[in-house]
Amino acid sequence: MIRRLITLIVYQKALGFFIFTATLTEGVTEMVLSSHPQDRHSCIKNDPLQIKTAALDLHRQIIRWRRDLHRIPELSFDLHRTSQYIKHQLDEMHLPHQLCAGTGIISLIKGKYPGPTMALRTDMDALPIKEETGLPFASTNGNMHACGHDAHMAMLLGAAQIIAERKNLIKGSVKLIFQPAEEAEGGAEPMIAAGCLENPKVDAILGLHIGQIFPEVGTGQVGVCSGPVMAAVSVFSIRIKGKSAHVATPEAGIDAIKTASEIVLALQKLIPPAINPTSPATLSITRINGGKALNAICDEVTLEGDFRTVDQVVERYLKSKITDTCQSIAATNGAIAEVSLIKDFPATVNDPAVTRQFLQSAGKILKPENIIALTKPSMANEDMSLFLQEIPGTYFFLGSPCPYPHHHPKFDIDENILWIGSALFAQAALDFCSA
Ligand SMILES: [Zn+2]
Ligand SMILES: [Zn+2]
Repeated sequence: MIRRLITLIVYQKALGFFIFTATLTEGVTEMVLSSHPQDRHSCIKNDPLQIKTAALDLHRQIIRWRRDLHRIPELSFDLHRTSQYIKHQLDEMHLPHQLCAGTGIISLIKGKYPGPTMALRTDMDALPIKEETGLPFASTNGNMHACGHDAHMAMLLGAAQIIAERKNLIKGSVKLIFQPAEEAEGGAEPMIAAGCLENPKVDAILGLHIGQIFPEVGTGQVGVCSGPVMAAVSVFSIRIKGKSAHVATPEAGIDAIKTASEIVLALQKLIPPAINPTSPATLSITRINGGKALNAICDEVTLEGDFRTVDQVVERYLKSKITDTCQSIAATNGAIAEVSLIKDFPATVNDPAVTRQFLQSAGKILKPENIIALTKPSMANEDMSLFLQEIPGTYFFLGSPCPYPHHHPKFDIDENILWIGSALFAQAALDFCSA
């Protein structure tokens, strides 16, 4: 939350008017030097103080974008109003755009000189949750931006404007990627298949998530790490086949519910201590279906759930161990267990070199104490992982603690830090494209 703004106007003969703005936020105190508006147009450059000032100047606009998008939450690939809104804002900035994977959008800010391409990616979708924040701009359509993707889009629009004003300085291009369906089916895969990382080929990619995924990252601070930062998820289904019989003669049947119960308990034991404690893993059965008549032994049960890992060795170990455990328990009971892996989502793994470069850029925007080194990956999953499998990049976290967790009907973000996300994106992209 911005506590206070102190503005000092200083006249310097050689440089014209400069405005010093001290922005005091909870956990973040930043000093910004900005030139007087009429001077700024004549000397736009890739200068951290200028970029911070540009982001602060855009602050109200970024909040307006966030609130407009918050009012119109849509789901999965069905993002027609959201997509329309983004296209309109890009038109206002005179930036070209094209649809990709349905309602996804690609926009290219082409620099004046040849050079590499950096992609900046945001997700766009909301959740089927009825909002209970009571905010004046709360959604009323039964869906809700309860994960902060409205803020992500607004921060990327802010960065787009800052970068577009400096495109004459850019060596290469900055590609904006607005991705649908992060929460549901996964929009990264069809966007990649449709060629969003080609023409021009993307050399590095950045993405960010706002909120409290990492509690150690305070308001307006940024959490960064190299290597795995979010978990891989494997969704599985186990079909247990037994034999039906009257409950009066259970010995004539094979009880699928009893077998399923033993399997549920045995699978829980696979996580600790069999797994290396430095490489976290979870395994959860989240759905059980089986049984018909109250007086009949159940002949078929389906168990579904997922396991999460950050290490491929642990992932492979769990895959084979789950199958072995299910089949051996089923065999002991005379039943049959069929284990199928429904879907695999990879871990989100940050590239060391791009992360190092990003840290240098972030250090120009934030004080060192506001850049937090993440030490343990989150067990949540994120389909930014698919982009990071193709292109080196980094996924970082902008802290915005809230009493309610992500995906809660009262989840909210601190709008006063949104300018930081725009400034970080812009500084990192301009640095990458100015080598
Ligand atoms: Zn989410
Ligand atoms: Zn999210």
